[in-house]
Amino acid sequence: MTMRTDYCGRLSSNDIGRTVTVCGWVAKRREHGEFLAFVDLRDRTGLIQCVVDHAHEIRSEYVLAVTGVVRPRPDDTINADLATGDIEIGDASVKILSQSDPVPFQIDRAAEVDETLRMRHRYLDLRTQRMQTNLRRRAQVNGAIRSSMESQEFLEVETPMLIASTPEGARDFVVPSRLHAGTFYALPQSPQLFKQLCMVGGIDRYYQIARCMRDEDLRADRQFEFSQLDMEMSFADGDDVREIVSIAIADATEVVTGNRPGSIPSMTWLDAMDNYGSDKPDIRFGMQLTELSEIFAETDFNAFKAPSVKGIRLPGGGDTTRNRLDQLTDRAKGWGAKGLVWIKVGANGEVNSPVAKFMSESEIAGVLKELDAEEGDICFIVADKWRRTVHVLGLLRLELGRPPVNEGGYNFLWVTDFPLFESISEDGSPVPAHHPFTMPHEEDISLLSAKDDDTEKLLEIRSQAYDLVLNGWELGSGSVRIHQRELQQQIFELLGINEEEAQAKFGFLMNAFRYGAPPHAGFAFGIDRLTALLSGEENIREVIAFPKSQSGADPLTEAPTEIDPGQLNELGLRLLPPVT
Ligand code: ASP
Repeated sequence: MTMRTDYCGRLSSNDIGRTVTVCGWVAKRREHGEFLAFVDLRDRTGLIQCVVDHAHEIRSEYVLAVTGVVRPRPDDTINADLATGDIEIGDASVKILSQSDPVPFQIDRAAEVDETLRMRHRYLDLRTQRMQTNLRRRAQVNGAIRSSMESQEFLEVETPMLIASTPEGARDFVVPSRLHAGTFYALPQSPQLFKQLCMVGGIDRYYQIARCMRDEDLRADRQFEFSQLDMEMSFADGDDVREIVSIAIADATEVVTGNRPGSIPSMTWLDAMDNYGSDKPDIRFGMQLTELSEIFAETDFNAFKAPSVKGIRLPGGGDTTRNRLDQLTDRAKGWGAKGLVWIKVGANGEVNSPVAKFMSESEIAGVLKELDAEEGDICFIVADKWRRTVHVLGLLRLELGRPPVNEGGYNFLWVTDFPLFESISEDGSPVPAHHPFTMPHEEDISLLSAKDDDTEKLLEIRSQAYDLVLNGWELGSGSVRIHQRELQQQIFELLGINEEEAQAKFGFLMNAFRYGAPPHAGFAFGIDRLTALLSGEENIREVIAFPKSQSGADPLTEAPTEIDPGQLNELGLRLLPPVT
């Protein structure tokens, strides 16, 4: 038996006549004459109004135990906005369990206060309905994922936090070793190498709700620390992995929203880039990129003599102001475009565009036809190399058409067949698009030897990597892995990782592969991102109990902090003077 008989928000008219004890915080208190006061008491389930006979010493956020009888409220005081608004606890006696200083912000106004203040007093912020709901959703997501993976016969295995570096492409957080002075552990950017070792170890189906740490700039969808569902399976290909993850995602979405999403569509990376200008297309809205290259194949307009000419149409955008258009042009230039052409469509096919005079009538007619443009619309055209054209139009599409985070339902999408390499670095070696353990597409393996004669050709190699996207957010990635030592070594060489370095960094994995590595594939998706989107939150901070601020600091504990010289000595470290 705890100190309470009931939770505030769970009382209802069914309880009328019962003597109850509720415990919680004073959300509001209103004196009513000299001897009567109304106290709204809050706990994690909601609020209940208590009528107490004197409340002089009671203040906001005091912790109380209130005992009294549940009774109906007089008709004219019923509060329809409150779940318990038709009842109250009357004749209540109050026990003050704890006092509170005046709070730095009113709990029910937390959304309006400065974020640093909320973070500094996160324990107060956690009392809000919003945080209570978000954390509950997060726990539901975790629970659903666990039971989904268990029922699909995955085994939860915990992997170490103090490890050697994992190559996920971010900077490592490092931890100095005391026992081995001068050496460092890295915190895991992911359990990637360990889950592959689990496959060599015959675990067959591994999963973990894993904490990962990456030292990179913080954004709305990125914190230093995050949680992901990490999974790996043997004797399986990408389709098998996607099927299993789709079930876990559906289970998690259903538990939070009450609706089970249908099967998740797939799109190749090439189609995603070509039609949406993004490897994480937001398919909640149309405005797809339309190919116009053929129309301008023989154009006299110099700006359109480019390998790739594409356009998008903003329906009803004909009233966009000149100011806004100048601003959009500047943005497009900031994204790398040489310029941005716009065409407004007026009545009877008349057009308004600063460059109309450089285009032939048939070119203009062709653009309007291809883009299905109608009176009142505006079309935007970019001409450049393909990658730049789609990149700029993809960003413009989001800028002009993206709905708010909580609109348009949940549009999951698999993006498959990513390129193996995303670019060629200055020293001539390719940069992996995923991590270096990703299996190339079987049909493209022969292109790996292209390095010596034509490095650009390497960029055409497709990999067996796939991403899961939700409403334009990348939820996670995975791939079929390389399980043959020779191929892995060939990839390392291409990446400019010589044998010595490969041995030093991943020798343990390469050695494990000597002893019978099964074919395997896996995936990981971010639980913070999934929960944020399912909660209609723009920033993952809102679904993390104790997040870092934008600058990576923690206003609550004030981490990161200096450590004392004794500790430094013990670790064999000496600090350099700060760089000025
Ligand atoms: N290790 C990858 C990541 O954390 C996911 C995977 O390839 O399974 O992004």
